[in-house]
Amino acid sequence: MRRLRIALRASRRLLELRPLSTSTLATRVGVLALQGDVREHLAALRSVGADARPIRRATELDDIDGIVLPGGESTTMIKLAREFGLLEPLRAHLAAGRPAFGSCAGMILLADRLDGGPVRSGLTETLGGVDITVRRNAFGRQVDSFEQDIDIAGIPGGSFHAIFIRAPWVQSVGPQATVLATLRTGRGAGHAVAVRQGRLLATSFHPEMTGDTRLHSLFVSMITNDGRG
Ligand code: GLN
Repeated sequence: MRRLRIALRASRRLLELRPLSTSTLATRVGVLALQGDVREHLAALRSVGADARPIRRATELDDIDGIVLPGGESTTMIKLAREFGLLEPLRAHLAAGRPAFGSCAGMILLADRLDGGPVRSGLTETLGGVDITVRRNAFGRQVDSFEQDIDIAGIPGGSFHAIFIRAPWVQSVGPQATVLATLRTGRGAGHAVAVRQGRLLATSFHPEMTGDTRLHSLFVSMITNDGRG
């Protein structure tokens, strides 16, 4: 009886606390931390108020509301994901419609299809999720990396300074995906470099490197607004 009373009191206290604790709970965003610019994404996410944490184990996927796949080397990330037992859990995470944001190599991982282009890609599989075909290293080699101001649909506050490092471009877009930004000039003119599909977001460039957190804000709002962004 006494134990029941204590339990009741405790649960009443929990109920009382609930509105306060849910309203102050930050969105939990994981960053796949096998390789690449993990720290930059964690910092950007924290600066927009998310509870950001590195992800190295499959069990950690259960405790997050969304995941960021960072820039780096997609071939290495796929290889390490397999070694760490994360490949299929990540695929399941995406197939279940859970939110994800991929930048550069992360965009490649989110693409449903790869286009080899003139150079052999070296990558044979992705995680998938976004109805696009991407071409790795499409702009050329490391020395062909560049920066450009681009316009991104749905991002307030004017153009976005985008950094492209051995970046992919979107070769073709399927009916499920929506293009948010297309390059107007240069070698990649006409190619999409930012796309969205439901609660999946992918960019060819590295928003985590500029200190401009508008895309990270968009991603967090995509998680909390249930896809409406
Ligand atoms: N070239 C890399 C790849 O194909 C991507 C580069 C990047 O993420 N900066 O995976």
